[in-house]
Amino acid sequence: MKLSKKNLDQRLDHLYDVIIVGGGAGGLAAAMYLQRYRLSCLVIEKGRGRSFWMQDLRNYLGLSPDTPGRTLLQQGQQHVLSLGGDYLAGFVEAVRDEGETFAVKVKVGKQDSIYPVFRSKYVVAASGIIDQLPHLDDMQNVYDYAGYNLHVCMICDGYEIADKQCGLFVASEAAINTAFVLNWFTPYITVFTQGLCEVGEEMRQKLQEHGYPLVETPIAKFLGHNHEMTGVALTDGSTVELETGLVAMGSHYFNEYLKELDLQWKGENLVTDTMCRTSHPRLFAVGDLKEGINQVSIAVADGTLAATAIWREIRRTSAPRRWES
Ligand code: FAD
Ligand code: FAD
Ligand code: FAD
Repeated sequence: MKLSKKNLDQRLDHLYDVIIVGGGAGGLAAAMYLQRYRLSCLVIEKGRGRSFWMQDLRNYLGLSPDTPGRTLLQQGQQHVLSLGGDYLAGFVEAVRDEGETFAVKVKVGKQDSIYPVFRSKYVVAASGIIDQLPHLDDMQNVYDYAGYNLHVCMICDGYEIADKQCGLFVASEAAINTAFVLNWFTPYITVFTQGLCEVGEEMRQKLQEHGYPLVETPIAKFLGHNHEMTGVALTDGSTVELETGLVAMGSHYFNEYLKELDLQWKGENLVTDTMCRTSHPRLFAVGDLKEGINQVSIAVADGTLAATAIWREIRRTSAPRRWES
């Protein structure tokens, strides 16, 4: 059932088997499997996550390479609802461990918000990350191209970049090293720091040896039309022509709601075992938020693993069903 401010009080006394934080690729896959294992789950999704901005899912077996992330989200949500799962548009603020259960506090509604608390035996953290983008006064100018030919993921879109004139947008010296991986796909790389970081002599020399120009002047705006970026205008009035771009400015990790729990992290990523269980036995993590490769195929497989591990555990502790005549 789709929950909203109007009907969610019907579920406040219900103990879900699993609450899934994040209804992207990993969360929806987990929910689909869990419902098919006849467990009860609630998916809570804030909206506008990474798979929402994915204009084309180009490398998922069986799907046409121009399938938008939104299609995946819509179909996934419908699928989960058709299996009897619950779905709520809301922002998870905190997860508290109560011993046998988790209490999940949600902000519902951006205005006149209410803060219901739902309870479950298990939690699947499927809240993912979001890529940092170049910060310009006019962000709409960035959004016009981000996720189109201004890419954010080399694994996803290196193939689209092949042999093209590519701008690499970074905010730290370490991220400049992306150029020496990106050159598998194209050698025509211009690095843009916007002056956000110092670049040491060694790195300058390495870039020079490879023939990759370094531009440290801030960007005034991206140029292009129809979601196709064709270059950048710099604040000194000059322009650089490009055919494509890759942003490597780091990510924001949606993990704030987990900070009260004692969990094992690697940087901002959650560490899990092979079934996606974190260091907390009743908390699983799937997709981009956990350590590993950030891909839809991995998130979906993670959801499958986490759901199956949870089902096994609940099934083994449940009384067997007998055919009573
Ligand atoms: P997400 O799909 O991001 O789902 C996490 C969800 O959690 C989000 O919807 C978010 O809104 C929600 N959320 C976060 N915090 C909270 C909270 N506190 N409360 C409630 N909800 C919350 N991958 C590919 O395999 N192939 C591609 O071609 C490809 N192209 C991409 C192109 C772009 C532009 C981008 C941005 C990504 C691309 N990716 C691609 C990567 C892919 O989107 C991710 O790897 C995938 O979505 C990860 O799934 P996930 O479930 O971990 O995260
Ligand atoms: P969030 O982090 O989602 O939320 C901020 C706060 O709002 C939360 O802390 C919470 O208190 C509250 N909140 C959020 N959701 C809910 C909810 N459902 N219920 C109650 N409270 C809630 N952004 C655009 O605007 N346009 C674009 O075209 C665009 N394109 C992008 C392309 C790419 C490739 C990428 C990576 C990002 C893009 N962005 C775009 C995303 C942008 O960077 C923001 O991350 C996104 O807009 C989410 O903004 P938000 O304010 O809702 O932030
Ligand atoms: P396969 O898809 O079996 O691919 C292996 C291929 O290798 C085969 O095509 C085989 O012909 C070929 N091969 C083997 N030996 C050789 C050789 N020596 N030389 C050349 N070729 C060779 N999974 C789900 O997720 N959901 C479902 O609903 C589902 N339903 C199923 C229903 C049925 C009836 C069956 C049989 C399976 C179902 N599965 C389902 C399981 C799913 O099919 C497998 O998990 C999946 O196909 C495994 O992928 P794979 O690449 O490992 O193996």
